[in-house]
Amino acid sequence: MIIGVPKEIKQNESRVALTPAGVTEMLNHNHTVYIQTQAGEGSGFSDEAYKDAGAQILPNIEAIYDIAEMIIKVKEPIASEYNLIKENQLVFTYFHFASSEALTKAMIDNKSICLAYETVEKADRSLPLLVPMSEVAGRMAVQEGAKYLEKPTGGRGILLGGVPGVKPANVLIIGGGIVGTQAAKMAAGLGANVTIMDISLPRLRQLADIMPANVETIMSNQYNIAEAIQHSDLIVGAVLIPGAKAPHLITQDMLKTMQPGTVVVDVAVDQGGCIETCKPTTHEDPTYVIDEVVHYCVANMPGAVPYTSTVALTNATLPYAIQLANKGWKKACQDSKELKLGLNIVQGEIVYQPVATAFDLPY
Ligand code: NAD
Repeated sequence: MIIGVPKEIKQNESRVALTPAGVTEMLNHNHTVYIQTQAGEGSGFSDEAYKDAGAQILPNIEAIYDIAEMIIKVKEPIASEYNLIKENQLVFTYFHFASSEALTKAMIDNKSICLAYETVEKADRSLPLLVPMSEVAGRMAVQEGAKYLEKPTGGRGILLGGVPGVKPANVLIIGGGIVGTQAAKMAAGLGANVTIMDISLPRLRQLADIMPANVETIMSNQYNIAEAIQHSDLIVGAVLIPGAKAPHLITQDMLKTMQPGTVVVDVAVDQGGCIETCKPTTHEDPTYVIDEVVHYCVANMPGAVPYTSTVALTNATLPYAIQLANKGWKKACQDSKELKLGLNIVQGEIVYQPVATAFDLPY
């Protein structure tokens, strides 16, 4: 199959959908790979590295869309890409259709085949192409939290791990899924006193089994959260209720009970945030202060570490991309329920119900 990898043109997006290692894999399966010049630059992969791996470099985005049978991307196409996509062209990327009617209608009109990373789903209902970004965000949450706990950046001026003779910081993580687990590991590794809360007792049991001794598990409820936030230095919001907005577990009134200079990193900001006072921020201006509490609420945290995010994402997407290239999308989706669930729009028809429901369109 002929595979095309365009350079991402959405603002602040430095990731790329295929690494030179991925090119080699594709070539081993007898496919041809075209990469737009400088597509990998933001993630640290030069045109030379792609050429050495066997890819052919094309000078512009039009050339990529003109030649490829399958486009592999990272972000949803933006308006200037809508008309580049051809009838029957397979596009494998994050789409997040439910948040854009214009994108949905454009992809219906161009009669392409849209296979969305975010709805590829395993039998256990996990979302294998979202997990890597949660892993990145969870680990970053503690790194960013540690930075903003420093005095010059508005924090309490406390070192997460303390030093001999000085007690470490208290880190509270609300939500013990992918983000919460990775955040807990990082905070524990730095020597902080970590508390992780979840509403799922089986999950808390699992966490209690695998976490080191400086991590305690506590049931998440209003009473326990209200008590814990009073002596926490860093709070990470990591809850997810699938298909719903995040619940506001920390209200504005509760901020007054917290120590001045406490830092909250609300990773769940993309679902509305689990802290009432959370509003989305950017890497350019990541924090703001309310009631002496520093809020970090960047909605695309992995964007700040494009090398790690690119490699983590492509580790997860490549096996699926290879199935699609080897078998063609029809056969690959017949053989794999996981991939079939990724199909959102096929040749002008919506085939994923939540997208149709979002805009009252036929399914
Ligand atoms: P996950 O499904 O793996 O984990 C969510 C956990 O929250 C589950 O264990 C669930 O039991 C728990 N939970 C639900 N309600 C709770 C409550 N009231 N109190 C405590 N725990 C509760 O999800 P995840 O992959 O860890 O993602 C967490 C959030 O991070 C999501 O909103 C996701 O979209 C977001 N996210 C944001 C970024 C970013 O850049 N900001 C990046 C990746 C993921």
